[in-house]
Amino acid sequence: MGIYKAEAVVLRSRVYGEADRILSLFTKEWGKIAAIAKGVRKPTSRLRGAVQLFSHTHLVLYKGKNLDTVTQGETDEDFSFLQDDLDRLATASYCAELVERLTLENQPIPKLFRLLLAALRTLRWGDPVLVARVFEMQLLPILGYRPRLDDCVVCGRKRILGPDSQETGPSWFSIEKGGVICPDCVPGTHGARTVSPAALGAMAYFLRTPLDRAVRVKLTGGCNAEIASLLRSFLAYHGEVKPRTWEFFDDLHNTT
Ligand SMILES: [Zn+2]
Repeated sequence: MGIYKAEAVVLRSRVYGEADRILSLFTKEWGKIAAIAKGVRKPTSRLRGAVQLFSHTHLVLYKGKNLDTVTQGETDEDFSFLQDDLDRLATASYCAELVERLTLENQPIPKLFRLLLAALRTLRWGDPVLVARVFEMQLLPILGYRPRLDDCVVCGRKRILGPDSQETGPSWFSIEKGGVICPDCVPGTHGARTVSPAALGAMAYFLRTPLDRAVRVKLTGGCNAEIASLLRSFLAYHGEVKPRTWEFFDDLHNTT
């Protein structure tokens, strides 16, 4: 014991001391771990590439009391292209922040590891706004917060989604109860809000379609804003998170 291997994505990296970095890693085998990479800011460091922000990497670590130490690393996929585009970088930072805040140390969630990698890979070509929306949506069932979209969360009455839908007006959604509500149950439900059929249809599509395919959908700005607002409230309520990157996103999109 003491030395172990891990396949990891670097979620966060901050400078420490004269030449070190402290990393938050999301590993396939061990979930989230905190580790130190010593001497990595020296130009001669062999670890440098392997512990770059967002790198998908194979590491050898040494178990420590508080922090584990990265002793070897080999980059599998380099996501440094993200540094060249502010919108892509913001989405990657956002996905990493959600993973960091919504998971516990030493709790492996292989599905989430694959989802994070799919998001980073899709950011090479996909619309970063859509990558963020689909990532948020697909994160929810993995963490046990799957929103119920096809029947009323209160009485169970079925509703039909998609192109065959008979519904033309808005539907109702309850953040607290975690899904759609039928008109009959609205009066008795605290905090019910309306949601358009287009937004509901897109959310259901995001839940059942692989990320790299789901991001090809065309979404109007209004529909994106509606889903973003609903998922923010959902994540804040069920995941108890308010990511710092939300403010950054707002600033970014208000100025462009
Ligand atoms: Zn109902």
